[in-house]
Amino acid sequence: MTGVCGRQVAACRPGTTGDAMDRAELVALASPPCHDCGESVQRVEIRWHLDEDANWRPGPSFMVCADGHRVLVEPLA
Ligand SMILES: [Zn+2]
Repeated sequence: MTGVCGRQVAACRPGTTGDAMDRAELVALASPPCHDCGESVQRVEIRWHLDEDANWRPGPSFMVCADGHRVLVEPLA
């Protein structure tokens, strides 16, 4: 993986509950603000899709802020 996506995924793995505050703070440090309201994004949602060869691949991914805005994560070129 390249760019900001990989860091966010590592810090926001689904299923790790109980440290939401610490995790949100870590993500806030590593993440850009929400494009809609300017708050730091709190988590990242990764969708999975089947490509043309029927392999599961991650993406697209969305950053989600405290107000629930979803911002599509654009892969860095
Ligand atoms: Zn927002």
